[in-house]
Amino acid sequence: MHDPALELTKELVTKASITPQDAGCQRLVSNMLCSAGFKAEPMPFGEVDNLWLRRKHCAPLFVFAGHTDVVPPGPMDKWRFDPFAPTLHEGYLYGRGTADMKASIAAFVTAASKFTDRYPNHHGSIAMLLTSDEEGPAVNGTTKVIDELSARNESIDYCIIGEPTSEEKLGDVVKIGRRGSLHGFLVIHGVRGHVAYPHLAHNAVHQCAPVISKLAATVWDNGNEQFPPTSFQITDINTASNAENAVPGEVFIRFNFRHSTASTVDSLTQRVRDVLTDSDVDYELDWAISGSPFVTEDGKLVSIIKRAISDEVGIETRLSTSGGTSDGRFIAPTGAQVVELGPVNKTIHKVNECVAVDTPHHLANIYYRILVSILT
Ligand SMILES: [Zn+2]
Repeated sequence: MHDPALELTKELVTKASITPQDAGCQRLVSNMLCSAGFKAEPMPFGEVDNLWLRRKHCAPLFVFAGHTDVVPPGPMDKWRFDPFAPTLHEGYLYGRGTADMKASIAAFVTAASKFTDRYPNHHGSIAMLLTSDEEGPAVNGTTKVIDELSARNESIDYCIIGEPTSEEKLGDVVKIGRRGSLHGFLVIHGVRGHVAYPHLAHNAVHQCAPVISKLAATVWDNGNEQFPPTSFQITDINTASNAENAVPGEVFIRFNFRHSTASTVDSLTQRVRDVLTDSDVDYELDWAISGSPFVTEDGKLVSIIKRAISDEVGIETRLSTSGGTSDGRFIAPTGAQVVELGPVNKTIHKVNECVAVDTPHHLANIYYRILVSILT
């Protein structure tokens, strides 16, 4: 049986698009969708290739968002097959990017081609937003394209991101949001000195110990219906002092919050400052927001997706907000309903990344059913 989604997945995997390279993936997708009536608009920023493909101009606008880049293959000798020579073996398709996320891209291109062929006069518009910088710093990718679209008032109503969200079987889990990620950079100052003369020094590590234990013991919130409780993790501590006979005068601490919508950046930063003030230490503190939390309520898009999955593969979907951040953090703030739905994620970023051989086909049918529900 000819399976266009599987064939296209294989063709995309042969293109070794390690971040931030696209390696011709976007040109291939563009050629296919332009013959289905899409208009292609490359939007490169820096060394990152981005592509905006849109068919028709009216609302509502449905967008599939994804990335063509992949993480490096890692140790080549641990791969059963060449990571860039897609190989079918015992019911699985092996290759770097099969699950994250070339099968999703191939599935959506297949679904959109079939849909526009059968419903050339569909309601609304369909678009595809592709970037080659999701796995990297994600500075010149989706966020820049969204800025550009916002500047010209192209607003997204519904968005599906093809990230691999499934856990055991295709469609068993979709993500309706993600936690926020907030980085903190703390310096605690003491007075550097000789270990033999501690009365002349002020040990910065000793200053910071009670601060760390207070921060680590704090309950930041209890989460809410959509999110687990906020977590605080110290990621690094160092004194930049390599002398065995020196009392360190400074400690540098990096930490990260993964936070629910039950806490805000303002509430978290204020509470950290309160701990530092109570501990009476001399400090400097900086912050970097790497993503705000977002959640799509259980509304129209979520119910259409649940039904499409159950009609295609006969399983009930669980709604989740777990995992790291995704490009949804850039799209959701525009007001779009955003849901992530893609293959089983067990092998992503690992050696021997693979998807079940029928995943591209079923995923294409799920995406197709969603298009029919929203745009006809
Ligand atoms: Zn991904």
